[in-house]
Amino acid sequence: MALKRVFFPGSFDPFTKGHEAIVTKALGIVDEIVIGIGVHSTKTPFFSLETRKHHIQHLFPSERIKVVSFTGLTVDACIQHQCSHLLRGLRDSKDFQYERSIAHMNQRLSGIETLFLLTDLSLSAINSTIVREIYQNQGDITAFVTNSELLIKGL
Ligand code: ADP
Repeated sequence: MALKRVFFPGSFDPFTKGHEAIVTKALGIVDEIVIGIGVHSTKTPFFSLETRKHHIQHLFPSERIKVVSFTGLTVDACIQHQCSHLLRGLRDSKDFQYERSIAHMNQRLSGIETLFLLTDLSLSAINSTIVREIYQNQGDITAFVTNSELLIKGL
């Protein structure tokens, strides 16, 4: 059975070249990707939801990609958007340890399996938290975020 539609959840605060590479790789495997920006009451994002959404939509004008926001359980959002699998990116063994637990919990909760893709080595050091800190300290983030001017405009 071909993978029709997968759900790629994350905070994407901001959406980096690492996230972008995972989506681009996945487009070679699946028909459609729903990128889900998680909105959590306990987590205040740096970049607004609207800015993050606009930035990602601008990066992927393809009809095969939809950008949504969601609250609540990731697996519920996955089902709501009629996705058969979750998609996550792996940078290193630390990501793997963490992602493995979440994937097992999601599998137990819903039966939904997670598809993992490895990042390119050159992008494995990119991390949204560090990118945010560079930005907050007036550093240049253009090497880590495509079209970063869209984020800056949105602030
Ligand atoms: P979350 O808050 O859910 O961890 P993130 O926005 O930090 O959301 O990450 C979303 C997904 O993208 C996760 O699977 C994460 O491991 C992956 N990811 C983050 N940075 C990179 C990167 N540089 N290369 C590949 N995958 C990445």
